[in-house]
Amino acid sequence: DHSLLHSSSSHHDRLYGGLLIEGFNVQSCHSRYQSAMYRRTAGRRPSPYLVSKLRRHEALQRRCGPGTAAYSNALEQLRSGKSVASPECSYLVSISYRGLGNRLLAAASAFLYALLTDRVLLVDPSNAMDELFCEPFLGATWLLPPGFPLTNYTNFDIDTAERYGNMVKNDVFGSDATDASTAVQQVPAFAYVHLNYDATLEDKYFFCDDDQRQLRRVQWLVMRMDNYIVPGLFLVPAFQDELDTMFPEPDTVFHHLGRYLFHPSNHVWGLVARYYHTYLASAKKRVGIQVRIYGALPDSPALLEQITTCTQKERLLPEILAEREPTISPDPGAKSIAVIVTSLKSCYSDELKRVYWEHATATGEAVSVHQPSHEEYQRSGATSHESKAWAEMYLLSLTDVLVTSSMSTFGYVAQGLGGVRPWLLYKPANSSAPADPPCGRDVSMEPCYFKPLSYDCRRQKQWVDPSTVVPHVQGCHDAGWGVKLV
Ligand code: GDP
Repeated sequence: DHSLLHSSSSHHDRLYGGLLIEGFNVQSCHSRYQSAMYRRTAGRRPSPYLVSKLRRHEALQRRCGPGTAAYSNALEQLRSGKSVASPECSYLVSISYRGLGNRLLAAASAFLYALLTDRVLLVDPSNAMDELFCEPFLGATWLLPPGFPLTNYTNFDIDTAERYGNMVKNDVFGSDATDASTAVQQVPAFAYVHLNYDATLEDKYFFCDDDQRQLRRVQWLVMRMDNYIVPGLFLVPAFQDELDTMFPEPDTVFHHLGRYLFHPSNHVWGLVARYYHTYLASAKKRVGIQVRIYGALPDSPALLEQITTCTQKERLLPEILAEREPTISPDPGAKSIAVIVTSLKSCYSDELKRVYWEHATATGEAVSVHQPSHEEYQRSGATSHESKAWAEMYLLSLTDVLVTSSMSTFGYVAQGLGGVRPWLLYKPANSSAPADPPCGRDVSMEPCYFKPLSYDCRRQKQWVDPSTVVPHVQGCHDAGWGVKLV
């Protein structure tokens, strides 16, 4: 019964303004064409240019992807270790590691880079990436098939010889190789691009025009990042015009790319849809609260206090009455509010539930509090654990109001998919003191890039504030050095 969904409202567009296309098998992926019905607001519209770019990219994946002659040729080239002057197709392999939020931000970043550089995107299927999602590209795969010649690629790391930063240091490309024939000789068949949190300055030269020119000549790139590097791509001069045309609203990059790429597989969609119908569908207002717990923290009364103060002060949830016998009796006609809490621990939702049971609300509204799971510890890679994490991120993205934890990629995914600018629970400067103010409205729904290149490439070697170069790249409220699109 879909009567409680938003299918009848005028905004309902199951293709999200052309972001998605018809033609996929409906049974193999229910979420793809159903998800829009679960969203109360349609979200932002993609630009016609982005839509056309996506269609062209799908054609590229079909022409060059696994199963094609071009792909076999490219693998042959990779095995030989030599590059050809102008390869028919170029590829980008994105390593999937760390938590699910990190992996999704990495995949979305890799996809945007692939769009900008006409590379086929192939996502490493590790850590259940092959089980949690449907294929995003019609008639092609986004997963790297087994048998990849670089058998060790998932272990590529800071000490890998073919790391791009290493190549820069060793001047592999020959900075003054102007003669085309020598240049071709010098181009390796693949490069490993390390944009992890521990990337060196040379690795981050990736974000410079000259380096992008070199990298264009490398047929295969393998990339590792645990970060949302998209704001960094906006700082590459050569990409700026294209990005501005694709995203006239720069604060919507993950919103659109996430909705385009990440469709829960049928198993995960079952978790989402059943939970939604049972606990959220009938509420007039839905509030999501994401409480990220690190390690084996003891239950923190300060954090609970922070959550209640934030939600009441900012009027996200109704205030509670102090007196034992409320003068207001519950109003059966008052609107109901459903709160979904996601956390590794259950104590925060238990306490919120208790508070709204033991006290009446000042508005007479009924507040119900729900938490789908409490897994206690992070177990990245375990499929049932990952499925729940994905379902919970998705459920958070279906709420009207979102409260998130600072610097959590889990929350970033939810806010971007939902198109919601969240309230950030600030980290207290001193872990035992309460955060004051407890929370604040984030500047945009975009994820924060924690470790941008803060130098003006090789020109000056001095620190530059990215916002002076590109005004829509601004500092993040939740991470000191981080930058984000606004
Ligand atoms: P981040 O570490 O907060 O940036 O987010 P990630 O998603 O990258 O990594 C955290 C991982 O811990 C998740 O992917 C889950 O595996 C687990 N986890 C953390 N918080 C929750 C939660 O609220 N619910 C569930 N089901 N898992 C969580």
